[in-house]
Amino acid sequence: MENMYDVIIIGGGPGGYSAALYATRAGLDTLVIEKLSAGGQMTQTTQIDNYPGFDQGIDGFELGVKMKAGAERFGAKTKLAEVLSVRLEGQVKEIETSDGRFLAKAVIIATGAGHRHLGIPTEAQFAGRGVAYCAACDGMFYRNKTVAVIGGGNSAVADAILLSRICKEVILIHRRDTLRATKIYHDQLKNAENVTFRWNSVVTEFLGGDRISGLKIQNVATGQEARLNVDGVFVSIGRNPVTKLFEGQVALDKNGYIIAGEDTKTNLAGVFAIGDVRTKALRQVVTAAADGATAVHYVEEYLATL
Ligand code: NAP
Repeated sequence: MENMYDVIIIGGGPGGYSAALYATRAGLDTLVIEKLSAGGQMTQTTQIDNYPGFDQGIDGFELGVKMKAGAERFGAKTKLAEVLSVRLEGQVKEIETSDGRFLAKAVIIATGAGHRHLGIPTEAQFAGRGVAYCAACDGMFYRNKTVAVIGGGNSAVADAILLSRICKEVILIHRRDTLRATKIYHDQLKNAENVTFRWNSVVTEFLGGDRISGLKIQNVATGQEARLNVDGVFVSIGRNPVTKLFEGQVALDKNGYIIAGEDTKTNLAGVFAIGDVRTKALRQVVTAAADGATAVHYVEEYLATL
């Protein structure tokens, strides 16, 4: 059959290319469909220190390129295209893309998660005009300037530390009075002298003309409002799973993540979910890569039943 693969992997992040590596080494005819470039979310991190094997750490983009090359060395193919719709319920899985239709006996979903937005009215107006979602990508535009980082998790704190090395001043705005971020980051943050904090504060409005020039915050404990002058804002409040394509076919939890356990099996036979897009306790490069290997084990088991 035309364009028929043993397994199609949707998404070329660390989970996707680990799955592709294991699938091709298992002799499966394998296609990875990726929208942009290899690496997924990790391409936005310049220094990954918690993926083993790189004693000096590694740039996320470079790691993505290496993972792709590693899978292609054994015959994995990549199609750069956007997936428009899927039909996953039958025995032959159908994937419609911006560059044609592809069929597979099994599908591994590795679409990851995208940046969460604050959802305040002026956010969209200033997106790309001072409101950014990736410090590693856009931080360089704010050399010697004043920026705010919103959030209190690992992403926000890592962004604040990175920006403190580039910017004149970094203001971390968090809606509570304690950080969610891992302890190791707290000391690094304390040592960054140009980082200040606005605790118990939410952003209510972005201000400016053509570009952002400031923002309004409100203290959730006292109700008091304040205006901060900033040249840029980094929204680092977590991520949303990329699962819209699968709604109504693959079972999702209340936050939109694909319901799948450590065996990566979804509610549909022959459909597996790996990495950040599935329900799991820890979303990291290393856990996504592990999922890729596990999924292929169960893909092989499934293909043997056909
Ligand atoms: P996260 O852990 O979910 O943290 C999101 C932060 O944003 C929380 O502090 C949360 O506040 C805040 N927040 C959420 N929605 C908000 C809203 N509407 N308005 C204001 N604040 C809001 O997300 P993350 O930091 O992106 O991390 C995601 C995952 O990646 C985690 O598992 C994390 O450990 C991992 N990660 C790891 C590293 C690393 O280890 N090197 C680096 C980055 C990310 P509350 O605290 O009040 O809920």
